[in-house]
Amino acid sequence: RYFNPHLARVQQITVCVRKRPMSRRELQGKAVDIISVPNRDSLIVHELRHKVDLTKFLEHHKFRFDYTFDEECSNMLVYEHTARPLILTMFEGGNATCFAYGQTGSGKTHTMGGEFRGKTQDCTTGIYALAAKDVFSELAKPKYRDQGATITCSYFEIYGSKVFDLLLPDKPMLRVLEDGRQQVVICDLTQRPVTKVEEVLSIIEQGNRERTSGQTSVNIKSSRSHAVFQMSLFVPGQAEACGKCSFVDLAGNERGADTQSASLQTRREGAEINKSLLALKECIRALSRHSSHLPFRGSKLTQVLRDSFIGGQQNRTCMIAMISPSLSSVENSLNTLRYADRVK
Ligand code: ADP
Ligand code: MG
Repeated sequence: RYFNPHLARVQQITVCVRKRPMSRRELQGKAVDIISVPNRDSLIVHELRHKVDLTKFLEHHKFRFDYTFDEECSNMLVYEHTARPLILTMFEGGNATCFAYGQTGSGKTHTMGGEFRGKTQDCTTGIYALAAKDVFSELAKPKYRDQGATITCSYFEIYGSKVFDLLLPDKPMLRVLEDGRQQVVICDLTQRPVTKVEEVLSIIEQGNRERTSGQTSVNIKSSRSHAVFQMSLFVPGQAEACGKCSFVDLAGNERGADTQSASLQTRREGAEINKSLLALKECIRALSRHSSHLPFRGSKLTQVLRDSFIGGQQNRTCMIAMISPSLSSVENSLNTLRYADRVK
């Protein structure tokens, strides 16, 4: 069903949707599943307005994307159709970027960082690790091995408009500078050299621990920040990376922060997140239109990812929009789907 004859000829921008399964709590609460995925590129939201007859669907919204993944799809399958086709981009000297977008609890971290088993996360099953595996098999090919090409990893978080290094204890804040040629650098960002997948896994684990440390619940603050995991390719004799892969677990896009009951802090966070997600949409659109005006200064997120959006054919982007299946999430799911629909 997901066979794709076009995988070899990758599009510059791919937009997909993934529906997660019902959680145990949703099943126990007899939550209603309002999302159906009739085939591999469409998705229907059945908006239930009928309070008496819960089996009656009154309104339908149909969407089409490059791929739609239902609750049966594994991380591996999602990876194969989203991030995997982008790996070669880095080896061709471009920037490959993959975003996980959606409300808190919709499966962004599960998809990018790995499956949760209770409270522990198995990072070997996430897109970061699956990508690392492919990066090393590509790197082992003679044309790269003989050049002495190497890989480094970075992992950082953007909260508000501040950047924090997830690979150093107590995640220090880092400065972001832009030079006269609009090149953006994160000062002193840890670039850890890696030679095998196991080293990448321990970096991911370290960053994940740092990301969630000091929080009472995993989903409180980490859901209000963007996490960016990067692998860069270096060849000897060149100071700058010649290609890069970035994987971004975006902050939750829910609009709960607009409500009056929200604290000032929560509203500020919400406003900042909103700003960065809007800026992101504008930047991806600029990339898709090969526009000469790139509004990357619209947020810290787009500023640090500037290289991902600059024109040319060598950069590729993929967005995976995550949605929860239940009726109680319908507003957020529709917002997510409409955003994803307008990205290209
Ligand atoms: P987010 O990062 O978007 O806030 P999480 O990735 O933390 O959401 O997912 C919320 C919960 O749903 C987690 O317990 C996670 O394991 C579960 N979950 C998400 N996606 C899936 C999936 N595709 N299959 C099984 N469980 C999932
Ligand atoms: Mg998360």
